Amino acid sequence: MAYLTLRGINKIYPNGYHAVHDFNLEIEKGEFIVFVGSSGCGKSTTLRMIAGLENISKGEFLINGVRANEKGPRERGVAMVFQSYALYPHMTVYDNLAFGLTLQGVDDDVIEKRVNATAGILGLTDYLERLPRELSGGQRQRVAVGRAIIRKVDIFLMDEPLSNLDAKQRVTMRSEITQIHRETGATTIYVTHDQTEAMTMADRIVVMKDGYVQQVGTPYDLYFNPVNMFVAGFIGEPPMNFIEGTLSGGRIELANNTIDLNGVADKSVIEKYEGQEVAFGFRPEAIKLSEDGENTIALTGIVELIELLGDNTNVYVDMHGINCILKVDPHISPKADSAITFHIPYENVYLFDRQTEKRIKLKEKNEKKQ
Ligand code: ADP
Repeated sequence: MAYLTLRGINKIYPNGYHAVHDFNLEIEKGEFIVFVGSSGCGKSTTLRMIAGLENISKGEFLINGVRANEKGPRERGVAMVFQSYALYPHMTVYDNLAFGLTLQGVDDDVIEKRVNATAGILGLTDYLERLPRELSGGQRQRVAVGRAIIRKVDIFLMDEPLSNLDAKQRVTMRSEITQIHRETGATTIYVTHDQTEAMTMADRIVVMKDGYVQQVGTPYDLYFNPVNMFVAGFIGEPPMNFIEGTLSGGRIELANNTIDLNGVADKSVIEKYEGQEVAFGFRPEAIKLSEDGENTIALTGIVELIELLGDNTNVYVDMHGINCILKVDPHISPKADSAITFHIPYENVYLFDRQTEKRIKLKEKNEKKQ
């Protein structure tokens, strides 16, 4: 039996806005789940329904197989970390950490032990007497996380906890939260709009769009086996390139290129989509600049711009009005304004139905599995 079950969960706000549609998910004990999607897609609403801060309009939420819709946040055994830290400004770090336990009537010496242990885990031992305003953003966020873990609850809910931090602090806190999760073993649901956070932290990711779950899977699954154009474009940075066109005899004819899918896709697939609008997809990093082996699709264009990022270079290519980005080794990067030919190995080719935006399976057995 799953630890947490979301069964047909819907949220309709009092103003009639339907923010979450038929959300289904089973979460195992100890899993780190990330809800990811653009702003407004319903991530926080779903998290707040799990927390008990927002009522569930339709559907059922179960903890250990027992209906919990009517239970309050405390009864559910959840601790929540918010983006805004929500620290008490007039209390020291020690008192902020101790507050929840004091309310519960825990003995002072137990509180002292737990505060010291929590401060130790989070590197806050030297800051216990400070007020929140005397801390950096990263330290404040640590106190907020500390207030959640000190309660030793079974379920952590985190809503964009790193979004007020600078890029470097975010990377540090990302690994610290992963580490804390390993140490506490608490089931964690983490909301973010940042696909890198999702990819690096999650056991499983739930991708949402406009209140609907698009796909649930491991980071590997979502990257290699996206179910539709939205997931394919959302996961990965820079995003997957899409070239749209009509399939004719297995080919997509562009102004200066032909994408020939004969050999990449099964004959039955090519016949099924004859005359239909499709989107050909490939990831910026899944190309080769030199040809080796026959099973590739070659495309040519002009390099418009290059961006050196250090570990790689983004190359912006114009193919008679069709643009794509390639991610290449900086040592072999082409120059701006030069002509370029690049090669996409067959195994890195994706195809989508332009109308439904769903992925088209190219072969009977083309799923990449770990
Ligand atoms: P996310 O966390 O993915 O950014 P939210 O769950 O906060 O998205 O919001 C989902 C949608 O619900 C948004 O369009 C938002 O404007 C709407 N919404 C959020 N809270 C309310 C509310 N109290 N009343 C009406 N609509 C709301």
